Amino acid sequence: MLAQSSIHAPFARAVLDWYRRYGRKDLPWQRNKTLYRVWLSEVMLQQTQVATVIPYFERFITTFPTVTALAQAPIDEVLHLWTGLGYYARARNLHKAAQLIRDQDNGQFPTEFEQVLALPGVGRSTAGAILSSVLNAPYPILDGNVKRVLARYFAVDGWSGDKKVSDQLWRHSEQVTPNQQVADFNQAMMDLGAMICTRSKPKCGLCPLQSECQANQQQNWQDYPGKKVKKALPEKQAYFLILVDGEQVLLQRRPPQGLWGGLYCFPQFDSKTALLDYLQQYNIEQYQQWVAFRHTFSHFHLDIVPVYAEKSLNSSQKCGQPQHFAEKVAEISVEYGAEIPEPHNYWYNFQTPPKIGLATPMKNLLLQLQTMQPKQH
Ligand code: SF4
Repeated sequence: MLAQSSIHAPFARAVLDWYRRYGRKDLPWQRNKTLYRVWLSEVMLQQTQVATVIPYFERFITTFPTVTALAQAPIDEVLHLWTGLGYYARARNLHKAAQLIRDQDNGQFPTEFEQVLALPGVGRSTAGAILSSVLNAPYPILDGNVKRVLARYFAVDGWSGDKKVSDQLWRHSEQVTPNQQVADFNQAMMDLGAMICTRSKPKCGLCPLQSECQANQQQNWQDYPGKKVKKALPEKQAYFLILVDGEQVLLQRRPPQGLWGGLYCFPQFDSKTALLDYLQQYNIEQYQQWVAFRHTFSHFHLDIVPVYAEKSLNSSQKCGQPQHFAEKVAEISVEYGAEIPEPHNYWYNFQTPPKIGLATPMKNLLLQLQTMQPKQH
């Protein structure tokens, strides 16, 4: 579990020497380093590159400067700031974890490995990265960049999502991580993966590990890390209704678990017939179908067909609970084993947008709405 190497071992020494000269030392979360700031950055960096994360991190830390500030914030505000960063479960877990820290630990971020690991959304690598970065605690890490460096250096065959392969990579990480200067070493490994041992065309000539790296010796870096055998992603289609009343448009809040959990979206329908039936409830006959586009999730492609309609509705019509969505929520909730939440209609003013979490394709459609000429009513 802990690092095993000495700082004088050739691997650690070469990596630390390289870091002293070339590593990144001025990232926003490396300044005024605290457990909270590093935790936030590590969660944002899961599956996301540094350049993308920086502006999100800056906005987050300005809005929520402490764990307690994050815990007290409404989830809508958290999701709003996360909009566009993807993998929204990360934001929900962050919020949940902040509330646990506020309630159980008086707002003090834990310093014991097992406690950090127990936080929602924190795995072994993230826990190790937080504690090593801030406290120099000797925990190895294994994020995507480190996996790539180690898989190539030790010529580890197979896809790292397989437990056997992952266990082997963890053993290598434990072996090479020194028990001192761990903060610099782990940062150096992440930087090496991001800057030198890149996914395609690694710059082996500039790499401090080149003389002992097996992939470099065999000139076969492209074989590592092994890839998952890819299955073609299934394709699904859904119709989204953009129902506009003046400067307002109808959004609905999704169930907390599952696709776009907790975010606001246009009402979704499995077929055009279902959408038109819904419009009939409001006696709406005119509509425009906009150009469809594809949004790809990790496990399927979703072809989104936007349908635009306008209607002046009175407030009781606006408050009415559309039956369709209640059923849809029940279906989704059963699928994901979630509690069935109240379907939540929300008339969103797209000219003066409030701060709520939006799924990215919906955000783009709202931008399209803002640029349309307002109609006279
Ligand atoms: S020598 Fe090349 S393949 Fe090996 S770790 Fe360095 S950059 Fe990666």
